[in-house]
Amino acid sequence: MDLHKLRENVSYVVEKCKEEGISVSGVIKGVNGDLKCAGMFAEGGCRYIASSRLEQIQDCREAGIDLPMMLIRIPMKSETEDVVRLADYSLNSEPEVLRALNEAAERQEKIHRVILMADLGDLREGFWDKEDLVNTALWVERELDHLELSGVGTNVGCYGSVQPTEEKLQELVRNAGNVERAIGRPLEIVSGGATSSFMRIMDGNIPDGINHLRIGEQILLARDLDVFYGYDVRPMHQDVFTFEGEVIEVKNKPSYPVGEIGVDAFGRTPHYEDKGIRTKVLIACGKVDYGDPADLFPRDSDIVILGASSDHTILDVTDCSCQPKIGDILDFDVDYASLVYLTSSRSVQIQYV
Ligand SMILES: *Cc1c(COP(=O)(O)O)cnc(C)c1O
Repeated sequence: MDLHKLRENVSYVVEKCKEEGISVSGVIKGVNGDLKCAGMFAEGGCRYIASSRLEQIQDCREAGIDLPMMLIRIPMKSETEDVVRLADYSLNSEPEVLRALNEAAERQEKIHRVILMADLGDLREGFWDKEDLVNTALWVERELDHLELSGVGTNVGCYGSVQPTEEKLQELVRNAGNVERAIGRPLEIVSGGATSSFMRIMDGNIPDGINHLRIGEQILLARDLDVFYGYDVRPMHQDVFTFEGEVIEVKNKPSYPVGEIGVDAFGRTPHYEDKGIRTKVLIACGKVDYGDPADLFPRDSDIVILGASSDHTILDVTDCSCQPKIGDILDFDVDYASLVYLTSSRSVQIQYV
């Protein structure tokens, strides 16, 4: 993990958002809450630290990261006591959970801040019925003395692949306006989404009224908006993270399996192409460490990943000038999926540069 590059990515995103009057929650779940990374999110200017996992928020607290903490998954009712203890803010959509949070906050003699989520069509979390959203906001404001209604928010592009278009975000601003009229005061936070909403900042068409985003991927990897939407993300660093695999076998072998074909280690039968004898390399990592080998990208583009089992990854290096030897280290780029798995594998050692 190149912490210097990470910090520069944080500052860049925070600065771009600031120009539009938008504060940033730095979302640390993509690196499993790695504390050094969380530290860079804080140093780089994020206003809040956010995660879907309370354990990661707890670690940040214990490490002395001195920013408001935001839980961005709807709390489990069973964890509401800890939510109030550890998080300053949480995203919510269920009255039953809000009531439990209020009771926990009362017991702890605290005020817990909540953001109510509006589902604008992506069909993951949030109020679908927008009248229900306004009524719940009013109920929190009037009845739940130990909660502070901090704002409203939305999430798109996670389940339903819905895009944060200008119109979608205007819909959020309209809902926020309805809540503000009902409670008779402005909201602190109108949270317009995650990395995908950063496209509106790059295009300069983020609607007025959005004043907060929750950003992970664009800071950590800056990959999705480039790869999937063709945005020029320069000068951001896309190589904050390097995965290094150690070579444990190098041999010339056939490319087509020899024998009767059944199923592989995961019960599937992949397609094997017969390209004759090839130079194959095994590295000491597998699906247990990173999930799917399609989420690893050799830095040397002449290396081809052929496949993987739980603990082995098989590469074809025939067309590569690198000629790996036993003990050599091969470098890979990662994406969000492989990063989240790699940072949770006990077998992967993290080195900071
Ligand atoms: C994960 C998550 C984010 C951050 O998403 P990125 O695409 O990594 O920026 C923001 N909000 C919620 C609710 C999330 O679950």
